[in-house]
Amino acid sequence: MSERLETWVHRQKLEQVDIDSLEQPMEPELSDKIYELERCIECGCCVAACGTARMHDDFVGAVGLNQIARFRLDPRDERTDAHYYDLVGDESGVFGCMTLLGCEDTCPKNLPLAAQIAFLRRRMAVAGF
Ligand code: SF4
Ligand code: SF4
Repeated sequence: MSERLETWVHRQKLEQVDIDSLEQPMEPELSDKIYELERCIECGCCVAACGTARMHDDFVGAVGLNQIARFRLDPRDERTDAHYYDLVGDESGVFGCMTLLGCEDTCPKNLPLAAQIAFLRRRMAVAGF
């Protein structure tokens, strides 16, 4: 899943990056928002509880969508919504979710999965047009 969704910070090639720009201060409110989503322990409970994942093997699940939401928040990641659309803008991604919320009900870390999925769906719908 990590390889498929490219769950790492995307920057220009390192040799093109000004070394001083690698460590930039971040507003505490933003780092708190990123940390909130970073708390996922990849236990898979959200996937086990997901009706869509049971029907479609290729569905990335709440765990994957949460990862996309996390990197989308991160200003160090240079990807645009068009890039994220290529990753999750279809039925195996955010448009496959049936919003039954089994994921949020079972997440042991109480991550705000429903809000993240709803937000991502809106952004991907805009990116799709
Ligand atoms: S249930 Fe919560 S902590 Fe576990 S993989 Fe899913 S999002 Fe992460
Ligand atoms: S809300 Fe979406 S991701 Fe969560 S359990 Fe339902 S179908 Fe799966």
